[in-house]
Amino acid sequence: MSEQVRRYTGLIDRYRDRLPLDPAVPAVSLGEGGTPLIRLHNLVKDLGRDVALYVKYEGLNPTGSFKDRGMTVAVTRAVEEGSRAVICASTGNTSAAAAAYAARAGLTAFVIIPDGKIALGKLAQAVMHGAVVLQIKGNFDVGMRLVKEVAADAPVTVVNSVNPYRLQGQKTAAFEIVEELGRAPDFHCLPVGNAGNITAHWIGYSELWARKGAAATEACAFCGGECRFTGEPQISTRPRMLGYQAAGSAPFLRGAMVDEPETVATAIRIGHPQSWTQAWKVAEESGGRFAEFPDEELLAVQKRLAAREGVFCEPASAASLAGALRDIKSGYIPEGSTVVCTLTGHGLKDPDIAIEQCKGAIIDVDGEREAVKQAILERLA
Ligand SMILES: *Cc1c(COP(=O)(O)O)cnc(C)c1O
Repeated sequence: MSEQVRRYTGLIDRYRDRLPLDPAVPAVSLGEGGTPLIRLHNLVKDLGRDVALYVKYEGLNPTGSFKDRGMTVAVTRAVEEGSRAVICASTGNTSAAAAAYAARAGLTAFVIIPDGKIALGKLAQAVMHGAVVLQIKGNFDVGMRLVKEVAADAPVTVVNSVNPYRLQGQKTAAFEIVEELGRAPDFHCLPVGNAGNITAHWIGYSELWARKGAAATEACAFCGGECRFTGEPQISTRPRMLGYQAAGSAPFLRGAMVDEPETVATAIRIGHPQSWTQAWKVAEESGGRFAEFPDEELLAVQKRLAAREGVFCEPASAASLAGALRDIKSGYIPEGSTVVCTLTGHGLKDPDIAIEQCKGAIIDVDGEREAVKQAILERLA
């Protein structure tokens, strides 16, 4: 009986024919993917524009960020290759995902994090899942360089997004969006750090687009038949890809690497993006662009989304929505458009910043009936 029940068992089982994995290799999965695509009503009403605005809530992945999509494929592949350990540099979410999937697979995870610049929830995850956490005096970019140097002659698999299996897993978010909308959005907005995710989404959309007009038995034209994807769905257009950065950490706006990136949005505190060339190509091919925001605006949008729509994302994630709202207001995104914003990580990852923003929101009252009633009536008045 229970075997008859169709359980969702993660994105490898769902999309294996479109992933470069051997059909026989068992997936290392925590049920990632299948995240909600939520249409925003209140924020759109506030804007007074006629757009279909959606957020893809990637914070609802098993470890609370989109990194799980890449990690399930990268770790599955590492096991297939006989690897015994994985390593990554991380601003937090990659380390949380690497630690969890490594634990699941029985591998050792080594994670290199910047001293004091990682959100509390992410650190808690890495240590709870039993990763070996190496905290360095240096930022993500320094950590990334060290990972590459060490992995060159140590028996460890790098699971940063320079590992191509990461992007292969992350491209599945585009598949899910197309399946739900029945088409590609006109604009897709993402926060940009290493620029792996914007690249991965473009790969996903492009694979579907390459199938336009193809018969359901023809091999994928995008990868030259490397995957076994032959079926639906097809799309006739691809979205314009819009990448948003924090102003203090915006190499794509400077047109050059940034050596001392600074932002409250620690997940995108990256000055030397690993997918630099690919992301420029994505912007060019898709007719998109990059833009930047001061930290205050990211935090304000994070708060507004939580307070007006009930969706809690982390500060870096709010960059995508901040961008969409600004571009809708300015008319760069025209009325009638369908827009998807990726909310990369869950708000609970970074409780310190959330509480900091809401200082004064907590009301002290005496623990007795009249005082509580009085406080409620005052606020309803
Ligand atoms: C990793 C991460 C990003 C940046 O993604 P890139 O692929 O590095 O551009 C943005 N937001 C969150 C929450 C992340 O964890």
